[in-house]
Amino acid sequence: FLDPAESACAARAGEHVRGAFDDPGALDRFASGLDVATYEFENVPVEAVRSLSGRVPVFPGPESLRVAQDRVLEKEFFNEAGFETGAFRAVDSEADLVIAIASVGAPGVLKARRGGYDGRSQVVIQDASEAAGAWSAIAGAPAIYEAFVPFRRELSLVGVRARDGDMAFAPLVENRHDGGILRVTTAPAPGVSDTLRDAAHEHARALMTRLDHVGVLTVEFFEVEGAGGPGLLANEFAPRVHNSGHWSIEGAATSQFENHVRAITGDPLGDASALAPTVMVNIIGAAPDEAPLRAVPHAHLHMYGKRPRPGRKLGHCTITGAAPDGLRAAVARVEALLAHAEDAGAP
Ligand code: AMP
Repeated sequence: FLDPAESACAARAGEHVRGAFDDPGALDRFASGLDVATYEFENVPVEAVRSLSGRVPVFPGPESLRVAQDRVLEKEFFNEAGFETGAFRAVDSEADLVIAIASVGAPGVLKARRGGYDGRSQVVIQDASEAAGAWSAIAGAPAIYEAFVPFRRELSLVGVRARDGDMAFAPLVENRHDGGILRVTTAPAPGVSDTLRDAAHEHARALMTRLDHVGVLTVEFFEVEGAGGPGLLANEFAPRVHNSGHWSIEGAATSQFENHVRAITGDPLGDASALAPTVMVNIIGAAPDEAPLRAVPHAHLHMYGKRPRPGRKLGHCTITGAAPDGLRAAVARVEALLAHAEDAGAP
């Protein structure tokens, strides 16, 4: 594992090469003896992946990373692959922002084009008079201004493409965010029509094929009320295994992690469908008392060994295999235990 962090979580599972992603010496030490390399973080520099791919096959390739790192390129790629998005405009100055607000409308969201995640580097704008404040809040970085989408709910799709082009999809899942951070995923998302699912698959196929993507790719959507029923607007994609796919470890026939490894090593993909209704609850900010969580029927606790910090994802708990009433009760119990931990950890 290559990770600049001193206490890399992955060091528990294998050798940890500590160094910057763009440090040639660290990349060299990392590459030696590898058959294949991958990444699970989209802020790895594209150049690092390019230079590494001269020594060892790297999947996904640099193109998936290049597009995913830039919110404007990403939205353009979505549109080219057939996904609709909300209205958006690239913004490089305060004057651009004023023009963007006039053309896209308000309310909207100003986001840094690069580097933001979990709701960071984003400002909601209610009115054109807020342009100057919003521009300085994101420190004048190259940005995108997007129409604020009045979504019914957020959904995501974990897809995987193999080296030979074969693809598999997990069911669309429903995601509940709080403060821009994923809190709860319900898999499969209830009430998704076959038409909506088929369209999402078709466009995701087009997207992965255009990128020549190999490995897992996750698309995040807003479900909106359209004239002819619910529709999907694509928000962003991640060229990697995704938090909204963690439920699949226990809840799917083949987890996103196994399918990712199968894809990059050239093995046939596994069936990604759900085995049973499953709910995943993130553990954020405060370390919970683990014993009561482990005692909840049908709950599976995963802690990542990270130091608690406000807003940091420290682990997750997946509940699966219960009858509907039992599932609801177990989720409520897990959420209550986590709320208690957050209250106890609050300053
Ligand atoms: P993102 O980093 O783009 O995934 O944004 C984080 C979260 O902010 C999303 O999951 C939504 O809950 C919310 N959000 C982002 N962009 C928009 C938008 N254009 N309209 C409404 N909500 C948004």
